[in-house]
Amino acid sequence: MENIKVILFYKFADLKNPGEFVKEHLKFCKELGILGRVLVSHEGINGSITGTDWQIDRYKENLRSDKRFTDITFKEEEIIEKPFTKMKVKFRKEIVTFGEKVDLARKGDYIAPEKLKEMYDNKEEFIILDARNDYEYKIGRFKNAIHLDIKNFRDFPSALKRIENLKDKKIVTYCTGGVRCEKASSYMKERGFRNVMQLKDGILAFGKKFPDTVWEGKCFVFDKRLVQSINSNEDTISECFICSAPSDLYRNCRNLDCDRLFISCLNCQKELNGCCSKECLTEFRKQCMGKSIAKQGRRSLTM
Ligand SMILES: [Zn+2]
Ligand SMILES: [Zn+2]
Repeated sequence: MENIKVILFYKFADLKNPGEFVKEHLKFCKELGILGRVLVSHEGINGSITGTDWQIDRYKENLRSDKRFTDITFKEEEIIEKPFTKMKVKFRKEIVTFGEKVDLARKGDYIAPEKLKEMYDNKEEFIILDARNDYEYKIGRFKNAIHLDIKNFRDFPSALKRIENLKDKKIVTYCTGGVRCEKASSYMKERGFRNVMQLKDGILAFGKKFPDTVWEGKCFVFDKRLVQSINSNEDTISECFICSAPSDLYRNCRNLDCDRLFISCLNCQKELNGCCSKECLTEFRKQCMGKSIAKQGRRSLTM
């Protein structure tokens, strides 16, 4: 059996005609037979793709043959089951939605995983800032990390006010693969945070080099898996919303009027049929009698 991989990548680049790029890229991806999601905008490309070793090699080759993407970095993971069921290439205003215009030329300096590890080892004084959403932070984070308690990356700019007292501190920002920190760190510097650095290629790159060190828990990922292990042991720092047993399994409540994203252990998932409470289970049963819910879409998670 052939190995299956999932890769994550982004690159800010000036795309003159993203619409055309979307069309051609989708055609290429479909012909190659890979699955995943690629966002394309005037500002660049951001995606996650799954396929066999061979397909992934072809994909990388193709993207790198475009001189705008020659030096793109791919974060790579071997997996058992493909975490996407479709191939989507979409045009977006931004490759990661922030809402505020930022000058990426002013972004925070990159800091390599080795350097961050060293800063921890030497007990240096610095703030480690999680630039991700609250549900991502909840199941895994760097030791002592602070976060802004946001539901969505576009809330980052307004939430930043909460840490204005840290403007003169040395701050290292991090996110899953690095793309959010490009904008977050640029924005922070524009707002007067003087000493901001960003972890190069994010948690995934750090986890590859230094598992079982200063990362606690797992890493949330935006595909069917929802979580990816960073450490070798089953490191679970969060608990079931219903019974408080250790768990990091996310799901949406099956009561469509609720749709709450919550952590539930397998027992409680079985007991409440994937609902977040007895009340929602009652509601869900009514919905099942009324109509076929199989066809209804779920709100999908985005950064
Ligand atoms: Zn439970
Ligand atoms: Zn519910």
